[in-house]
Amino acid sequence: MTTVTATGLVKRFHRGAETVTALDGVDLEVHAGELVALVGPSGSGKSTLLAVLCGWETPDAGTLRIGSGGAPRGLGWGELALVPQALGLVPDLSLADNVLLPTRLAAPDASVRAGELLAAVGIAHLADRYPHQASLGEQQRAAVARALVLGPTLVLADEPTAHQDRGHADDLLDALADTARGGSAVLLATHDEVAWSRADRVLSMRDGRLHPGAPA
Ligand code: ADP
Ligand code: MG
Repeated sequence: MTTVTATGLVKRFHRGAETVTALDGVDLEVHAGELVALVGPSGSGKSTLLAVLCGWETPDAGTLRIGSGGAPRGLGWGELALVPQALGLVPDLSLADNVLLPTRLAAPDASVRAGELLAAVGIAHLADRYPHQASLGEQQRAAVARALVLGPTLVLADEPTAHQDRGHADDLLDALADTARGGSAVLLATHDEVAWSRADRVLSMRDGRLHPGAPA
């Protein structure tokens, strides 16, 4: 099943007289059960692509179909999970409550799954802390656990191992790979070369264009 089908995506940003073409005709398919790594230098358009796929940004051209239904943006609440580069944890909620946040509207009781995820990413002992009482790496692990708690149809993760040591990065990659094995489509933007080797496919972004395979 194809979860993401994008064709000819173009996204331009205007800064005064200057126009930046962040996406310059991107074609992409991501299938259910697949872990896809999106790699490329800073500024190549990775975050913009994720922002367009999740609906934060509207493309200037191209077509986008998300989900299996005929309608664009066929995914409902709880099916699309994000790990933004800036994490987006709620400061007034503990790490455990942040992980449980998506379940409040969508699932009656996911506390067991949340507990398993907190343990899997190595922050079970920090469950009651608030984000400002945790390191950036620990906050990032909470953000990944939050994204995975509902077993979403599509996971879009922006550099989810950026603040981790090797061991914790591997824990996060295990959690993301397990989620893909469970049937989710997982697209991660990453500089982590270990992530490339864990992915089913690697796509390289350069100057707003996507190429198959790792960068040369
Ligand atoms: P990456 O995630 O690969 O580092 P981005 O997608 O964040 O790259 O950025 C791609 C290009 O678009 C860069 O040149 C960046 O400066 C530009 N850009 C991104 N977001 C904006 C914005 N909101 N306004 C103007 N330019 C932007
Ligand atoms: Mg980025």
